[in-house]
Amino acid sequence: MSKLLFNRASAWIKSRFGGRIQKIPVNAGFSCPNLDGTLSDQGCLYCNNKSFAPFYSDAQLSITEQLQKGGAYFAARYNCQRFFAYFQSHSCTYAPLAILKQKYLEAAGFEGVEGLIIATRPDCISAEVTSLLRDLAHTIFIRIELGIESFDDRVLSSINRCHNVEVALDAVKMLKSVDIPVSIHLISGLPGEQPDHMAKAARITSSSGADMVKLHHLQIVAGSRLAELYLDHPEHYRLYTLDEYIDKVCEFIANLSPDIHLDRFISRVPINQLIAPIFKGIDEAAFQRQLESRLRELNLYQGAKFVALNC
Ligand code: SF4
Repeated sequence: MSKLLFNRASAWIKSRFGGRIQKIPVNAGFSCPNLDGTLSDQGCLYCNNKSFAPFYSDAQLSITEQLQKGGAYFAARYNCQRFFAYFQSHSCTYAPLAILKQKYLEAAGFEGVEGLIIATRPDCISAEVTSLLRDLAHTIFIRIELGIESFDDRVLSSINRCHNVEVALDAVKMLKSVDIPVSIHLISGLPGEQPDHMAKAARITSSSGADMVKLHHLQIVAGSRLAELYLDHPEHYRLYTLDEYIDKVCEFIANLSPDIHLDRFISRVPINQLIAPIFKGIDEAAFQRQLESRLRELNLYQGAKFVALNC
């Protein structure tokens, strides 16, 4: 049998649930402190939250209605009956606790839903939110997707994230202290990154306590502030080619602890909203085939260069 080049999140899910579970994105109508004026009204430089909302994920519909529509779509397309409700839009732990609880319980009660995946910002994980999640996790599986994006404070500042690395690592710690699985989200190719950022990000991820990591490359999405800046001065931005990004991911995987699982490497921005870079014909499966082939060529695998941080 050929050597496993990296741990897939799908294997983690399979070992826990005995099979594949389909994510249904839902929009609970939450906002974001980086958009509503609490921290900023500008948002992250690259943000256009509409770019990752499918047709059934509509805040005008109730959570139940969205799950009905999404469930019917995935049942017809992939014949699946087991789901995760995926709270994806904006910062999905950013609301009064009573509202959060009501939305999460509505999703948890929908037939076929076996867990909640909740995407949020690190500064929207408080002690109160952590307690709520801990209590709910007694009855339903919960995983948090934490948008950290970079482990470099200068980069976080340049993209107007309005939080720093310390806050991000504290959020992971808080969630892990109550045994909530955490998936870290990172972007590669952000303005101001150092050449070794992927190795460094892999080492910090490895020591953070996170269970999973989701990566994608910087994309210029229509409607974002970055799109305006890029269209005015494309020469100021150095976007990865497909081969360059694959090599960045290889570096990340090689420096990552063998205990962590990798969720995905490509984000699905609809092509009519994507300005650059365009990786023609490359979906997640095609990307992973090329990634595996490059890992073999470089004689790399997950953990090949891993060194535990002493902290
Ligand atoms: S935290 Fe998320 S929703 Fe908020 S501005 Fe940034 S990318 Fe957009």
